[in-house]
Amino acid sequence: MSGFHNSSNKSASRAAGAETAGSKSAGKKGRILTGDRPTGKLHLGHYSGSLANRARLQEEYDTFIIIADMQALTTNFDRPERLKEDVLQIALDNLAAGIDPRKATIFIQSLVPEIAELAMIFSMFVTVNSLRHNPTIKSEAAERGYRDLMYGFLGYPVSQAADIAFCKADLVPVGEDNVPHVEQTRRIVRRFNELYRPVLVEPGALVGEVGRLEGLDGNAKMSKHLNNAIFLSDPPGEVERRINMVVTDPARIHPTDPGHPEVCTVYSYHQAFNKPFSEELDENCRAGRIGCVACKKRLGKAINDLLEPLRARRAEYERRPGDVEDILREGTARAREIAMATLREVREAMQIDYFTFQGGTGAF
Ligand code: SF4
Repeated sequence: MSGFHNSSNKSASRAAGAETAGSKSAGKKGRILTGDRPTGKLHLGHYSGSLANRARLQEEYDTFIIIADMQALTTNFDRPERLKEDVLQIALDNLAAGIDPRKATIFIQSLVPEIAELAMIFSMFVTVNSLRHNPTIKSEAAERGYRDLMYGFLGYPVSQAADIAFCKADLVPVGEDNVPHVEQTRRIVRRFNELYRPVLVEPGALVGEVGRLEGLDGNAKMSKHLNNAIFLSDPPGEVERRINMVVTDPARIHPTDPGHPEVCTVYSYHQAFNKPFSEELDENCRAGRIGCVACKKRLGKAINDLLEPLRARRAEYERRPGDVEDILREGTARAREIAMATLREVREAMQIDYFTFQGGTGAF
């Protein structure tokens, strides 16, 4: 499951449901919630679908980036000891991709317990059947070979709804596979607002142009789980080695054979990361004027050029681990403050604010 991956810039995106976005008003910045599950390092699929756009969106929106460590446990509950390192890697990947902590709030989900509280409240409005039929849950369960589902795994969309709603995000940049999660959130929020009081914001989904990047093996999705990815932190030699593994048009034996770029994964990568070249490549490949080895070399260079500034920023932050910790601490403190305010409103609306006191959520 991929968190809130894969987005796009505003102009190249389809915004679904954004007409109901409630908190953005004239003169006020809209708010975006995006993020990742810390289950390992991020790869090119995350970059093209989401990270590159986060860096752009942070200029325009009040951007919240969740490191969803509790959700990582839905599939990795038997290996919690890896979380600490994975959280750091996700933070580094985001910073390397150009996220500016002065503009965006990067925070750790489990250190904002109000999100879990909101997820518990939301779980009252969601039927088990609707979760079972969630396409992302179904495909992820099939991919992992789950026959019986853990409660936490099945409830993942409810937890995501709380991630989005706690900060009243207007928009959620997502890949196509996560649109059902945003729709689920909209239904939950609508139900809450109708039942109690219009406290929460129905978010819109911002779907990226590159909704999904193929894996190196031609699988429809690049995924660390499927071991068909190029990681953002891979050194240049590893990028080249991995690109040599990418599947091409199987009909091409000789460099002069006419090719079919539409069935070639290398071509899809050129389209995603080397757009100007992809146009002439289409013609040259069909005419048998370029061989696959040369084509992959061009791709390797383009991807390494793209990743070079990310490597430099990453190395810079790796030299200052205390700064990364401060960024996470400060981001989490801001997120928590907002979450506490939202939960106070939620509890008041539901009339479960028994002993309201300054600074608390309304609980004991
Ligand atoms: S030349 Fe490039 S686009 Fe054409 S089949 Fe080979 S790798 Fe694919």
